[in-house]
Amino acid sequence: MSGKVERILKSATSDSELKRDEIISLLEVSAPDQKRNLFSTAYEVKKRTVGPVVYFRGLIELSNRCNKDCYYCGIRKSNRLVPRFRLEVDEVVEAAVWAHRNGYGSLVLQGGELQNDSHTRYITEALSKIHAATNNELAATLSLGEQSREVLRQWREAGAHRYLLRMETSNQKLYKQFHPDNHQWESRMQCLSDLRSEDYQVGTGVLIGLPGQTLGDLADDLLYIRDLDVDMVGMGPFIPHDDTPLASHVKTFDKNAQLEMGLKMLSCTRLLLPDVNIAATTALQALSDTGRELGLQAGANVVMPNVTDPKYRAVYQLYNGKPSINENSEQSRAGFEKSISSIGETIGFGLWGNSPRYKKRNC
Ligand code: SAM
Repeated sequence: MSGKVERILKSATSDSELKRDEIISLLEVSAPDQKRNLFSTAYEVKKRTVGPVVYFRGLIELSNRCNKDCYYCGIRKSNRLVPRFRLEVDEVVEAAVWAHRNGYGSLVLQGGELQNDSHTRYITEALSKIHAATNNELAATLSLGEQSREVLRQWREAGAHRYLLRMETSNQKLYKQFHPDNHQWESRMQCLSDLRSEDYQVGTGVLIGLPGQTLGDLADDLLYIRDLDVDMVGMGPFIPHDDTPLASHVKTFDKNAQLEMGLKMLSCTRLLLPDVNIAATTALQALSDTGRELGLQAGANVVMPNVTDPKYRAVYQLYNGKPSINENSEQSRAGFEKSISSIGETIGFGLWGNSPRYKKRNC
């Protein structure tokens, strides 16, 4: 077995792309030396292709109002236990200005999914005011769910550069199992295609470790993401949220196993797509205090320090155990700086940090 894993890693780092059965073999490694080998090989690929630099994306969680009802998500429409909020545009701009002053090269505006004119205008106004207040120096990423092509165009024109929209899973049967009937996998995929047509840098990703998901499903997810030819990948382990329908179907939750599968998926992504930007997502840190360092050492090169006013953080909980709920932006930044220097990497202050893949596509 050990020889097999070494052979796969060797060929993945030379001339041949990972195949489905090889990804499955890497996802099932359990011996500590093989896991170390997988993570460190992916880490070397990351250093070679995107460098030992971590890019900051200041995360603004601007609203938990959502019209979707995903069975796993803490801010789903039917969760009546969560108080709903939306930041004022001035509060969004204030957080963006803080990020800019602190040398963050880019922002992510994330929130629940709403499709109406007032929401479209709110985001348009926030984007315009952010750019006016920061000299057009910040790259802006949106993560606001599925939207029509017209709305995507309006936000692109108002200054959005990138968009993150997880497909959640490439397995349509699994998608149906975790969403109500009026949520369509095909619409999500159409939106990903519209984003490319509207000239966004596109990011996608999946939930890792959903009940009933197989290693074959995860391997298919990675091959699907490869075929979409995205610029960014943001994937993370599924973590139950007590006030969701899916939580009652999760009998036992093994934090370590979820973390480990999340890290293996990051490494396989880096081996398959050496030149994309890959996020070490907050869910990793929710599973372990050192989750983000482990993510960076398994192949990720992007982190999203939260810059939202702490008073809103507790009501933007997608899953149990969201980390850093009581931290302010300064404390979050200090924590990230410490983690990153502890693994001998540097922070790309003031840089937009486009992926090499995006740069190649546009030269
Ligand atoms: N509404 C936007 C959308 O649908 O893309 C952005 C916000 S949504 C809450 C962001 C991501 O959170 C989702 O794509 C999903 O993968 C993730 N998420 C939701 N519930 C989760 C859970 N219980 N565990 C881990 N990730 C979760």
